[in-house]
Amino acid sequence: MSKQKNVMVFIESRAGKIAEVSLELLGAATDLAEQLGVQVEAVAVGHNLTDELAVLGHHGCQRVYYTDDARLAHFTSIPYAKTVINTIKAHNPGIVLFGATTMGRDVAPRVASALKCGLTADCTDLQIGEHKIKDKIYKNILLQIRPAFGGNIIATIVSPESMPSMATVREGVMKMAAPNPGLTVEVVNQACQLSDDDFLTEVLEVISEEKAVNLKAAQIIVSAGMGASDPEAIELARELAHALCGELGCSRPVVDSGILDKDHQVGQTGITVRPNLYIACGISGQIQHRAGMSEAKRIIAINKDPHAPIFAIAHYGIVGDVKDVLNKMIKAYRKA
Ligand SMILES: Cc1cc2nc3c(=O)[nH]c(=O)nc-3n(C[C@H](O)[C@H](O)[C@H](O)COP(=O)(O)OP(=O)(O)OC[C@H]3O[C@@H](n4cnc5c(N)ncnc54)[C@H](O)[C@@H]3O)c2cc1C
Repeated sequence: MSKQKNVMVFIESRAGKIAEVSLELLGAATDLAEQLGVQVEAVAVGHNLTDELAVLGHHGCQRVYYTDDARLAHFTSIPYAKTVINTIKAHNPGIVLFGATTMGRDVAPRVASALKCGLTADCTDLQIGEHKIKDKIYKNILLQIRPAFGGNIIATIVSPESMPSMATVREGVMKMAAPNPGLTVEVVNQACQLSDDDFLTEVLEVISEEKAVNLKAAQIIVSAGMGASDPEAIELARELAHALCGELGCSRPVVDSGILDKDHQVGQTGITVRPNLYIACGISGQIQHRAGMSEAKRIIAINKDPHAPIFAIAHYGIVGDVKDVLNKMIKAYRKA
């Protein structure tokens, strides 16, 4: 049993591939572990994943506790949660991180409830720091930072008296570190402790559907807000995105109004993107939208209101009617 309170990441996989969010979390875990002087560990559950697990080492994971069983080939809530709970009990990490994905959001609360420890959902930042309650100072604890009250405040949440500290983080929020193929991971195989009674559900068939748009991977995003939400403006934004070999994004009300589907939504409750270029068309720039795009390398904002908050973070601002400006940009880029 490990004496150090290491930082542990729950590893997700689908169709035998490690999910990107898990590799992003290993980057965050590496930063936290360095500050604490501890190691980065992982818990992986599945079937025939051993070859794939090497990639965890390239992303800074020193040790992975791996439970392999044919019955675990597809995700089901109880067997996965029980395996993670058993692993945490056996190895006693100080911090456990989960992706705020369908799988992570299912497993993490079950683990928190079984271990009677805190869990902060959808963190946007994780830091190591101290916290004072009355005259007691807790040092080197996990500060779990996330927007609260509709994004109007940024809350720092701590759970110093219940171990481990646990958090979920949305995909794309933590930047994936460049892999180092020279780094290796120790794979610790664990026997599956589950009985047939734990498998209450059976996956009969998996039907996967490709996403219509991959905003996370796009280097250029042209994003439409409510100021560019009529059919003509949406088509112009789409045309500019195509002219630039980019993707079409949008703000949340554009999704809520049924104009574009959720795969296009950028922001706190959408996708977090870091493209080389983000062109915000008729987007006011509320905090919840900015949370998903403020780390773009270059931001161009088009808005008819010179006081729109988006201009505060834009590198280039164009005050004008979105359709006029988009028409001119499409012409100029096509010519170039
Ligand atoms: C918990 C929570 C989570 C949220 N998550 C998200 C999220 O993930 N993503 C997100 O985007 N929002 C999110 N929101 C909503 C967010 O608060 C804003 O309401 C939203 O981002 C506003 O979208 P918008 O800028 O497109 O629309 P608006 O705020 O209506 O702004 C439209 C802009 O277009 C400009 N405009 C209008 N006509 C023209 C024209 N002809 N030419 C040029 N400019 C024009 C206007 O000046 C204005 O600035 C969330 C809110 C909450 C409470």
